[in-house]
Amino acid sequence: MKKIAVSGSTGSIGTQTLSIVREQKDIRVTALAAGRNIRLLEEQIREFRPLLACVYEEDAARDLRERTADLNVRIVCGMEGLTEVAVQPESEIFVTALVGMVGIRPTVAAIKAGKAIALANKETLVTAGHLIMPLAKECGVPILPVDSEHSAIFQCLQGAGENAVQKILLTASGGPFRGKKRADLEQIRVEDALKHPNWSMGRKITVDSSTLVNKGLEVMEAKWLFDVLPEQIQVVVHPQSIIHSAVEFADGAVIAQLGTPDMRLPIQYALYYPVRRSLSGERLNLCGLKNLTFEEPDLETFKGLSLAYEAIGRGGNLPTVFNAANERAVALFLEQKIRYPEITEIIQSCMESADYIGAPTIDEILATERAVYEQIAEKW
Ligand code: NDP
Repeated sequence: MKKIAVSGSTGSIGTQTLSIVREQKDIRVTALAAGRNIRLLEEQIREFRPLLACVYEEDAARDLRERTADLNVRIVCGMEGLTEVAVQPESEIFVTALVGMVGIRPTVAAIKAGKAIALANKETLVTAGHLIMPLAKECGVPILPVDSEHSAIFQCLQGAGENAVQKILLTASGGPFRGKKRADLEQIRVEDALKHPNWSMGRKITVDSSTLVNKGLEVMEAKWLFDVLPEQIQVVVHPQSIIHSAVEFADGAVIAQLGTPDMRLPIQYALYYPVRRSLSGERLNLCGLKNLTFEEPDLETFKGLSLAYEAIGRGGNLPTVFNAANERAVALFLEQKIRYPEITEIIQSCMESADYIGAPTIDEILATERAVYEQIAEKW
């Protein structure tokens, strides 16, 4: 029986993780955490019977405590609570699937407690990869990627041994606005940006996919996970989302991972690594694929990706500025307070005016995030 703790259990990745638990029947959920959705969290507690559950907001935690008084579960809250979930003594794997930089500290605590990390929360590596990866190495803890592209790369590397990666080919669907030009972006409404052509995901990441900011965050994540230089990571637009990414080796061989777009596969691979379990769902029918196409990303129109390369090239706290500015800008866009092209304009403006810090500590990362939020609140 595997034992896992899941943070962000009420979200898109969290609920899909629990659907695997439901299907496989040999995983015990020891702890759950969410932000404020206590209705769903209560349902999850009743179904999976964890020993511990955290809801970030204190009021919501009080409410949840009353609603689950008939169960043997301890309800905690805040950052302390999230950290308790991450280090829950019985769990072996910590699935970090919450959204935002709030995921950094619990992940650090889980690594120090010797838990394997199934990592969906990309903000952790984007902003603190320089701290997380050496810490994981020191503690002998694996970081198992959940993001489909990174899981694909990780799968392509199985058996690679000492052979160095020449290049990572990170595929991107191109999002719903592929082919549009900068002037067309003015007209885009929230409901347009929330329609992803291939994947069903949370709201923020769906908007990030449409701006290619998500691909930029994935480039940063790949750099840390696979210890490569940004120039070794090539983004390839592949609208069919069948090839989830590929690796090129020194002899020119390219090894790719293919499949239908289903996040449950990378989640399950991380949970059972290195074992491949049976998984329900559609199978890839190669003969049914009429054509697989590939193109360069349009960096002129989708400035989010070029800004991401700039942030990762300059390093330090710039990826944090990029991520925090995007997070707030997307929230403003979803509240219909800014126009779609302003998302990348805000990121650029924050990057231009940021106070650079070379190798930021976690406190400095979080201070940078706050400074960016304040700057955006003042101006927008
Ligand atoms: P969702 O928006 O669907 O879910 C976010 C989850 O985080 C919810 O459970 C939410 O709880 C929880 N949460 C938010 N704030 C807090 C907090 N302060 N404390 C505790 N929990 C909190 O996001 P996704 O599942 O789409 O994405 C999660 C992460 O995985 C992101 O980093 C994303 O980039 C990454 N990712 C997602 C993919 C996908 O297919 N969705 C693919 C690859 C990576 P509540 O519901 O209560 O608000």
